[in-house]
Amino acid sequence: MSNVPVAVVTGSNKGIGFAIVRALCKQFPGDVYLTARDPGRGQKAVAKLQEEGLCALFHQLDIDDLQSIRALRDFLKEKYGGLNVLVNNAGIAFKVRDTTPFAVQAEVTLKTNFFGTRNVCTELLPLVKPYGKVVNVSSMVSSSALGGCSQELQQKFRSDTITEDELVELMTKFVEDTKKSVHEKEGWPNTAYGVSKIGVTVLSRIQARMLNEKRKGDHILLNACCPGWVRTDMAGPQATKSPDEGAETPVYLALLPSDADGPHGQFLSNKTVRTW
Ligand code: NAP
Repeated sequence: MSNVPVAVVTGSNKGIGFAIVRALCKQFPGDVYLTARDPGRGQKAVAKLQEEGLCALFHQLDIDDLQSIRALRDFLKEKYGGLNVLVNNAGIAFKVRDTTPFAVQAEVTLKTNFFGTRNVCTELLPLVKPYGKVVNVSSMVSSSALGGCSQELQQKFRSDTITEDELVELMTKFVEDTKKSVHEKEGWPNTAYGVSKIGVTVLSRIQARMLNEKRKGDHILLNACCPGWVRTDMAGPQATKSPDEGAETPVYLALLPSDADGPHGQFLSNKTVRTW
């Protein structure tokens, strides 16, 4: 088993994830795994970094596929006995002009952004070693979508006692409510991406609390963040930040020094803790 520190970035064949891997290759003292659901796209991305003189390793990972997540888990367990840095970056968004029915958009978006990210956490968090870092890439849109929720939902999503099961129930209810076209009546905002990212931010707050309760003394720091508005296939060419600039806050959180006792359980943008 290797004693080398290891970092894993989900959805990193392009966009912000790719830029996070690039930065980690330069700054993280260990093995950096670029992961992608499609091995062809992943290997091509690794080759691109190689041309820049950077050495990333590749492992397949489709966060929608539990088997794929478990294969990565078993690989990390066997080869490294765990992992040191996990960046949950993979995500999807329908374009504003997309005419796919809203209920379908809700189901598909929540499946990857919330349920897929949660499944990765369920399988990989127990493997995170002491002094490890976990970064969940959410979005400022989670904050604006929270503001668009009913007072009752806002209170639940801001609660310091909400459980993961309760959050899963709420995310499932959103998808069901869109199918019955009652989501607005039930207090939800009209954004599937926004609700999925509320899920990611609240999940991060819950997971940080669980680490405090169950692994106190392991000094693991777990946070959610927004990369900013970044020029990628998701956000388009008008966005204000380059992918490398978008990677800055996630990379800052992934490389917090081992003597740092925070941030933990926070939502950050531009390396600054934001009020949830
Ligand atoms: P992007 O260019 O579209 O890249 C998304 C990445 O996620 C791709 O590598 C994609 O792989 C991967 N992915 C999607 N579904 C996956 C799955 N089921 N399993 C594994 N990988 C999957 O988007 P981006 O702008 O870099 O976004 C990265 C993250 O930042 C997302 O979580 C996004 O919500 C968040 N974010 C972005 C912005 C922005 O302005 N760009 C703002 C706030 C938050 P494929 O190539 O195979 O599709």
